Amino acid sequence: MVARNIQKKIASEPNYQLSLLPSQVDTIADIVRRDCYIGDFSIDIVKAANKYDCIIQEVAFNGEDRDVSGMVYFDPKDTKFHIDINANDTEPRKRFAVAHELSHVLLHGDKLKSVTSNAIVDYDRSIAYFKKHDDIIKEIHANMLASAILLPRAQFETAYESTKGSVDGIADLFNVSKHAAFIRMETLNKFD
Ligand SMILES: [Zn+2]
Repeated sequence: MVARNIQKKIASEPNYQLSLLPSQVDTIADIVRRDCYIGDFSIDIVKAANKYDCIIQEVAFNGEDRDVSGMVYFDPKDTKFHIDINANDTEPRKRFAVAHELSHVLLHGDKLKSVTSNAIVDYDRSIAYFKKHDDIIKEIHANMLASAILLPRAQFETAYESTKGSVDGIADLFNVSKHAAFIRMETLNKFD
């Protein structure tokens, strides 16, 4: 898997761990999730995003863009972040897309705001599309935080035990994509 190899390569670089620690990710995720739980495992990710001035819209991406999962831009007119997600995706994938774009806002929001027009500042396909080192790091960080928001640490550990570490089982429990469950397992070193 190309994306996995890129993530592994970056993760082994000396500065990587310093830039965003898993414990820091958990701290941010705990704050984001406050007042947003639905039941024991799942959270209302749209409600969480709304707390941070993000407006979510489902868009029918077509043609070359049909595999785009989501994008985010800052509109100086209404001073809101606008997150567009792919209307054709499944519910779990949409949830991850919202969490991923929200994570860009939280981690890189100042940079997003410095763009004067409504320029698209994140446009997500597979991580394999990203070429610049800084962009890849941003993607990895957004993915780490997104999966931490959707899969809280304590509940994740409970689910990990009860499903015997099944990616599919964990994804079902939290109503997230397998991709999100996989990243969370990787961040918490469950594959080591
Ligand atoms: Zn991204």
